[in-house]
Amino acid sequence: MERAFNFNAGPTALPEAVLKKAEKEWMNYNGTGMNVMEMSHRSKPFEEINNQANSLLRKLLNIPDDYEVLFLQGGASLQFTMVPMNLLEEGKTGQYVLTGAWSEKALKEAKKIGHAEVAASTKDGNYKAIPSLDSIQPSKDAAYLHITTNNTIFGTQWHSTPENLEVPLVADMSSDILCRPIDVSKFGLIYAGAQKNLGPSGITVVIVKKDLLERSKDSLPTMLDYRTHANNSSLYNTPPTLAIYLLKLVLEWADSLGGAAALEKINREKAALIYNEIDESGGFYNGHAEKDSRSLMNVTFTLNSQEATDAFLAEAKERGFTGLNGHRSVGGCRASIYNAVPIEHVEKLVQFMKEFRTR
Ligand SMILES: *Cc1c(COP(=O)(O)O)cnc(C)c1O
Repeated sequence: MERAFNFNAGPTALPEAVLKKAEKEWMNYNGTGMNVMEMSHRSKPFEEINNQANSLLRKLLNIPDDYEVLFLQGGASLQFTMVPMNLLEEGKTGQYVLTGAWSEKALKEAKKIGHAEVAASTKDGNYKAIPSLDSIQPSKDAAYLHITTNNTIFGTQWHSTPENLEVPLVADMSSDILCRPIDVSKFGLIYAGAQKNLGPSGITVVIVKKDLLERSKDSLPTMLDYRTHANNSSLYNTPPTLAIYLLKLVLEWADSLGGAAALEKINREKAALIYNEIDESGGFYNGHAEKDSRSLMNVTFTLNSQEATDAFLAEAKERGFTGLNGHRSVGGCRASIYNAVPIEHVEKLVQFMKEFRTR
């Protein structure tokens, strides 16, 4: 059976090597006679999987020892709530940089928990760009500054982050975690739903500086308190065991390729292939994002008319390309090219884009 050319925004392609390994271990994981789904989360084999996933992520992102790595449920969307619940102290303000639909949602949830406001926004320009760093000035009473490092829907990405902040930087990295090396020490807290770059849906990674956990209040519901998960190696209640196992396999795959730096190199090549075709098309394809804000993960573009866009998408679908429809708020097309999308599939797409344009 042919595999699809998968450009879905998420959930999306997983590395073929990961799917094959999971298939091989499906009926009998490592001599246990069980699928990982069938074993206790308190068993030795599962504890090993959990620990390996944790230490591999630490290795790949070079996470310092004074940070906790948590595996939670509820998606990035629950982090929109948990971040202010744990970090937004009374009398302080959660500061949000709006760069797209997901940061708007994060702000909306924070306002339900405490005081939150906009620190900078590019909404007026239909989120074509990331704001300049000097336009972002968190106020004196800030509890943290929240950014969304990659804007999945609009196809923009931060290529540098605010420096010398006096408050912790909190980042939603759901759609670009592990697409390149990062300096974790610049962040107070990072969160990411796994289903774009790390594995299947059902698991969310949180990387949090240990001293920030002191802000959590005992009155928080147990499951919504970061300390609960930090103190129990993310095994306070039954975790999504299969998702953690698949996360581990994806991290092993990333490690075998050479880690975050190697992934960045491939991701840059993949993105350049599509952006070059857009730039060389003489206006046949129009990129949504401004050049200096272009995302390595989500390439958003339109054709000159709705008819042309529809024809492009219909023909692409016939040729086996999946997930190229843009989000309804931007329209047009979006090619999501996360870590697991092979460069060969991107080459096939660009070949099709050229061929369609020529015709
Ligand atoms: C997909 C996405 C989310 C939502 O993630 P869920 O796991 O569905 O809650 C949040 N933020 C960003 C940047 C995303 O790309």
